[in-house]
Amino acid sequence: MTAPSDLEFVVASANPDKVAEIQQVFGDRFVLLPRPVELPDVVEDGETLEANARLKAVAVAIATGRPAVADDTGLEVDALAGAPGVHSARFAGEAAIAADNMTKLLDALHGRPDADRAARFHTVALARWPTGDEVVAHGVCEGRITTERRGEGGFGYDPIFEPREGGGRTFAEMGQAKHAISHRARAFRALAAALA
Ligand code: IMP
Repeated sequence: MTAPSDLEFVVASANPDKVAEIQQVFGDRFVLLPRPVELPDVVEDGETLEANARLKAVAVAIATGRPAVADDTGLEVDALAGAPGVHSARFAGEAAIAADNMTKLLDALHGRPDADRAARFHTVALARWPTGDEVVAHGVCEGRITTERRGEGGFGYDPIFEPREGGGRTFAEMGQAKHAISHRARAFRALAAALA
């Protein structure tokens, strides 16, 4: 094996859209190597976004002997004390799909005033070396939860999240423009700056 380079990171995510978004932010400053296919999924049972990002990065760094990058994201609704937060993927249950999670969130906020719909996406991006050294960065996108789904693009909660800087559109209505202001892009921009 060649010596690991600090300019190359194995990416913990196997989601091609997320990997493309991260590579777009890193540009030609850092190279992303794909997650080895034989690596088992990591159980994300941390109590915080940072803990989950660390679980994923450590697993990849140890398995490959190379620096790794991982991220974890949550949607935090102020009026729900920060829920669904670290439980965003499984808000409506272990087998929940995005549609179930959105229905549960819309129901939880049903009839509530606009002031109660304030929310943010929060991403923790983390670079971890096999030695245990690490760099942690955060990215936030402020916005609100809509009263109904709008738009066909994106994934997860995109049809019901209206970012403050989105000109009234939901993430699902923004196409590639989402990536200019997204929590994930911001977290990886901050990570890239900290690594530079
Ligand atoms: P992950 O940590 O990136 O896997 O995100 C956890 C969960 O948060 C996902 O399963 C989605 O439900 C939600 N999520 C993360 N990023 C986004 C996004 O950019 N738009 C909408 N939902 C997201």
